[in-house]
Amino acid sequence: MIPFSPPRIDDETITAVSNALRSGWITTGPRTKKFEAELANFLQARKVACMGSWTGGAELVLRWFGVGEGDEVLLPAYTYAASANVICHVGAKPILIDSKPGDFNVDMQSMLDRVTSNTKALMPVDIGGIPATMKSVQGELPNLISPNNAVQDNLGRPLVFSDAAHSIGAKINGTPAGSTSDVAGYSFHAVKNLTTAEGGALAFYNENLDAEAVYKWFMKMSLHGQSKDALAKTNSGGWRYDIDEHGYKCNMTDIQAAIGLVELARYENDMLRRRADICSQYDTAFGEYDWAELRPTPQGVESSNHLYMLRIREISEAQRDNIIDRVLASGVSVNVHFMPLPMLTVFARMGYKMEDYPNAFDAYSREISLPVYYDLTDDQVDQVIGTVVKAIQKVLG
Ligand SMILES: *Cc1c(COP(=O)(O)O)cnc(C)c1O
Repeated sequence: MIPFSPPRIDDETITAVSNALRSGWITTGPRTKKFEAELANFLQARKVACMGSWTGGAELVLRWFGVGEGDEVLLPAYTYAASANVICHVGAKPILIDSKPGDFNVDMQSMLDRVTSNTKALMPVDIGGIPATMKSVQGELPNLISPNNAVQDNLGRPLVFSDAAHSIGAKINGTPAGSTSDVAGYSFHAVKNLTTAEGGALAFYNENLDAEAVYKWFMKMSLHGQSKDALAKTNSGGWRYDIDEHGYKCNMTDIQAAIGLVELARYENDMLRRRADICSQYDTAFGEYDWAELRPTPQGVESSNHLYMLRIREISEAQRDNIIDRVLASGVSVNVHFMPLPMLTVFARMGYKMEDYPNAFDAYSREISLPVYYDLTDDQVDQVIGTVVKAIQKVLG
């Protein structure tokens, strides 16, 4: 079986984790701090805060910005449930936006059109590694009517928080994609481009933020609200601390950071290149067939190639499912990204209806995600292509 997206774990990763374990320091410490500094450099961010997951970090962002009951956050219908769950966790209302026609991403203008006086944040998602925001839209946002905390008061308008879970390394005209947002959230979950097993990071871009103070707030609130982290408490006289807010628990461990440091060091010149190479082999092969609808390639964008999302023209959802069954039976793991949120019980129960998001449904119903990962060989790429083509031709008749 060709797997879908196994992590790249080799001796270098294993040695790095062993060294972290042997160092005597396994929770947030020197490796996490080093990883944050290297990520900030790679992402050209003012500051990076590592987190236990994208989800932990994203919920903290919403709480930091004072998003809660009665507030609305805009996001695509076409995304993973985590994007919307965090909005529900803080008690706000997710406002789902349909995809662009023929695309997976939302059109930022259609998101801007839905901003109301209740909108506290916009959360575009870079589906598959292609940035949703080609340029900053901050200048087009209205002022917040009634800021309810100091951070909102300082920004004065809704926050642009990019769900960049797929797009580490993606660029717009040579610049890291996240820099169009105020804050970008990355995921280092096991299937993501760059992994720490579980993990995530927040990159702060907004020029008007006191980045050091913001970073300190995220460190404190990701660790119970404690005024000192575990490492600082080991210093002499460091046992005394205070807690002035009910903090959360979503810090990154040094074991995770040890994996991340190895991943990041070989990410841009090795792992990202291999992903791009695999995806262009798919583009070339499927480009031969009239039934194939290749991924969007917006001008000036360098995708992080997180997913290779193939669509087949004019097929039904049932035909797509049939193709997937055949491909799986032939020993190739494929997936669908994503079931739009209204298709999931919890969101249907909240009243979202799939028929209100026709473009998202169209993209989903004709989509198959193919394996993309560092260790996938050219022979395996050929095997994937052969298997997928055969299954599609069989179903199309
Ligand atoms: C994976 C993913 C997340 C969640 O990331 P975690 O690190 O698992 O919390 C959020 N949004 C999108 C689009 C994702 O694919």
